[in-house]
Amino acid sequence: MELNTRIDVLREILERSGVCYGSGDTSSFFTNESEAVRVAQLICGTCPVEARAACLEYALSTNMEYGVWGGILFWDGQAFYRKRPPGRPRADEASLPVEASKEDLWALVEELSPMRKTA
Ligand code: SF4
Repeated sequence: MELNTRIDVLREILERSGVCYGSGDTSSFFTNESEAVRVAQLICGTCPVEARAACLEYALSTNMEYGVWGGILFWDGQAFYRKRPPGRPRADEASLPVEASKEDLWALVEELSPMRKTA
């Protein structure tokens, strides 16, 4: 499928089933303040899997530089699984990955949307 067509399809999925879509409250989604990012990621966790996968694929396909998309924070073009709060990380969080590679995120899109391979 051509990229622009695919992006249109992804946008349709987000309009139809994205939990945050049309809410008007984007304040938690476009900041890198750790508590706000955590709130945005919790909201993403309530999104249907199809929408989460479409959202992440949309961000990757359009080289999104900022915002929380599909539960992943993009900031200055770098992707993050989570934003560490200031100070020393808690012992139970210290070993968790923070930065995400685009390759790993594409693999996550594949994992979340098995139908994508046949599209
Ligand atoms: S995954 Fe998150 S950012 Fe994407 S549509 Fe759902 S709630 Fe919004």
